[in-house]
Amino acid sequence: MSHLFDKKIVEAFGETLAAVAKESLPAAVEDVLATPGLTDHLARTVEREVQRFAETELGVPPILRFTDEFAFFDDYLRLAYESTGMSQKWCSRWWAHRSVRFRIRSMWLAYESLVRRDPATCDEVFLRTIGDHHMPLLTGERSPMVACTSGHQPGKPLKSDPIEEGTL
Ligand SMILES: [Zn+2]
Repeated sequence: MSHLFDKKIVEAFGETLAAVAKESLPAAVEDVLATPGLTDHLARTVEREVQRFAETELGVPPILRFTDEFAFFDDYLRLAYESTGMSQKWCSRWWAHRSVRFRIRSMWLAYESLVRRDPATCDEVFLRTIGDHHMPLLTGERSPMVACTSGHQPGKPLKSDPIEEGTL
């Protein structure tokens, strides 16, 4: 669209638009300002953007909801996934099973990423897409802790022979 055309539109409708705007804008602004929770929403948005800027532009370490995988397990995962009884495979020394600790640490890091993206939905998204995938693997028949029924039994890493010459 040419600027000449824009100019003609402004000339033709400018006065009318100005009159409508003068009458309608204050009411529209009042409506927006009366939105319930607007102040809280704006404060959260500003806080999130400031935090993102500090992390990405200034290199400030991110504020984490949990300090490490142990706190994540104690204060979140353990509450979200209760014990279901005898059929559940679990070891109270879960942290001594390297693959379990690795998996829980991965879940914790993914959770922290979700918290930063959207604090309002992070729990639901985490449980549905991450926790509900990993926890049945950790507590089911193929759990790395399956041998710890009457006490901790250290797990064994997968076998791996030295790589033969000429393989790479
Ligand atoms: Zn164990």
